[in-house]
Amino acid sequence: MIANNRYENMSYVKCGDSGLYLPKLCLGIWNNFGKAYPYENSREMILTAFNLGINHIDAANNYGPPPGSAEEVLGEVLKRDLKGYRDELVITTKAGYEMWDGPYGNWGSRKSLMTSLDQSLKRMQLDYVDIFYHHRRDENTPLEETMGALADMVRQGKALYVGVSNYNAEDTRKASRMLKDLGVKLLIHQPRYNMFCRIPEQGLFDVLKQEGIGSVAFCPLEQGLLTTKYIAGIPKGSRADNQNCPFLNGEDITAEVLDKVIQLNELAKERGQSLPQMALAWDVREGGVTSVLLGASRKEQIIENVKMLENQKFTADELARIDEILG
Ligand code: NDP
Repeated sequence: MIANNRYENMSYVKCGDSGLYLPKLCLGIWNNFGKAYPYENSREMILTAFNLGINHIDAANNYGPPPGSAEEVLGEVLKRDLKGYRDELVITTKAGYEMWDGPYGNWGSRKSLMTSLDQSLKRMQLDYVDIFYHHRRDENTPLEETMGALADMVRQGKALYVGVSNYNAEDTRKASRMLKDLGVKLLIHQPRYNMFCRIPEQGLFDVLKQEGIGSVAFCPLEQGLLTTKYIAGIPKGSRADNQNCPFLNGEDITAEVLDKVIQLNELAKERGQSLPQMALAWDVREGGVTSVLLGASRKEQIIENVKMLENQKFTADELARIDEILG
């Protein structure tokens, strides 16, 4: 069941200036892993990823649907299939979006984050997570309080490292300095970054470099737009067709987007790879992120995407062509 050669083909890269290596490709369980989906498919995707060297799995308190159930499914797979492998795995979770009723099930207070982490550990049947993220900045909670809670999680041994997600450049710098003063490193930032969303290039990447913080990109395929699946309409069972996931809709798939997709796909073919493979390689190019978080609805997508490792180099001409297509 577990492949002996699982570490043979994956690349592992240092996360910022820490000692932690992360696989170039990680698995996110935001969509398709909650209890609304068939358990066997989720299990197969997690085990396929692990067997391909993807030893980093990214969760959050609210992933499902229903919220919390993706962590429960992961917990079951960890217990049933990966029991002897906990020390080979980097398991992350987050809190900061709406999770439970009342004033503490959301945002970034100490009360909210500490209790959420305890709930996540129970759902995943774990003693600790490798990385705990604050999921988004909370303007109504002093950053000192949020960072104090993250530092205490590390002191309590419930999180080995901490990170932030969706923070802008300035808040990331402040968070990093505050944590440093508390004797804890801000290990990692999780930004949205892909060919269609390049906001981190406008200051965030500079801060990450200056502070020695690693980065793992979410939505590296812009939820599937950076594949060829939508060129001929919305296929049944795709994310844009999925009633459980309101985050990608028909209105997002415009003629302008599809025109870019078609041109990018031509370039990918010239490079001898699929469009998702090229888009993932582009994300982790020099000047991009440390790693990317794969999302998937079936194991074949993970198998295809991992093959991006076979061609990660871009010529200056190819990079210029991509910029030109993206406009
Ligand atoms: P992507 O942008 O990579 O989208 C993944 C989707 O693309 C899949 O579900 C599948 O869609 C499609 N896909 C993937 N590979 C292929 C392929 N080879 N061929 C065809 N279609 C393919 O990532 P996600 O949006 O899923 O995000 C990844 C992870 O990032 C999440 O699981 C989560 O861990 C993290 N995340 C973090 C956020 C944050 O705020 N910190 C926010 C959002 C995500 P289909 O279902 O149509 O098959």
